[in-house]
Amino acid sequence: MKGWLTIAGLGPGAAELITPQVSAALAQASDLVGYLPYLNRVPLRAGQQRHASDNREELARARQALQLAAAGRQVVVVSSGDPGVFAMEAAVCEALENGPASWAEIDVRVLPGITAMLAASARAGAPLGHDFCAINLSDNLKPWALIERRLRLAAEADFAIALYNPRSKARPQGFARALAILRTACADERPVLFARAVFTPEERLEVVTLGQARPEMADMRTLVIVGSSLTRMVPRPAGTLLYTPRSAYPAGGV
Ligand code: SAH
Repeated sequence: MKGWLTIAGLGPGAAELITPQVSAALAQASDLVGYLPYLNRVPLRAGQQRHASDNREELARARQALQLAAAGRQVVVVSSGDPGVFAMEAAVCEALENGPASWAEIDVRVLPGITAMLAASARAGAPLGHDFCAINLSDNLKPWALIERRLRLAAEADFAIALYNPRSKARPQGFARALAILRTACADERPVLFARAVFTPEERLEVVTLGQARPEMADMRTLVIVGSSLTRMVPRPAGTLLYTPRSAYPAGGV
């Protein structure tokens, strides 16, 4: 059989949020490639090979997947959420751009998944209902100074801001600095959502003000959304509804 490579998003956690297209590709695959915790979310199938790797070896993993497909295997690279958002799809594109000419023939497909900021937003209300941006707080692949600049400018432009990878053991200080930067640009009342492990049994949602936000409220399984100046917190018995109205700026000004 001819080899192929599909890069598939597994969504935020719940099996019901994996698209039927992704499930079909996973069932057809001879080989699965990815970070072990993501591979563990895929049901085992007899005869299917699994190639687990460390989270920080994305390019090597992408090359390995392309080599397998070039050798005639049916390969699915798995990512959490959407594979195009801070994940494996870009690494596969980079490996293809710099790889041997023979890889041009490989049938490469991308199957989208529900990314963490959309899953978190759905659980909280509609914090991303108006213009927003997404910033990855990990400085593994970019200088911290760039992250600070983007945070400042995003706050100045009054975007709602989704923060991926807010805090890890290897980078305990970054998120505290990010909060400090946001505090200089935004009022203390600005709503902040801490959405941990959404659509998993460990899910925890917390809505606080920027003044109340503490670095310890986030870990690597948390997606943080900082509201824009329009974002509103509405108390309800089931938890705070967080939303950004679509048209609340005064005509002609911000
Ligand atoms: N490709 C993924 C993002 C990978 S970066 C996606 O599209 O969602 C990993 C970061 O995503 C985590 O540090 C966290 O900020 C966020 N994340 C992933 N799954 C999550 C979940 N179920 N709940 C909250 N945040 C999540």
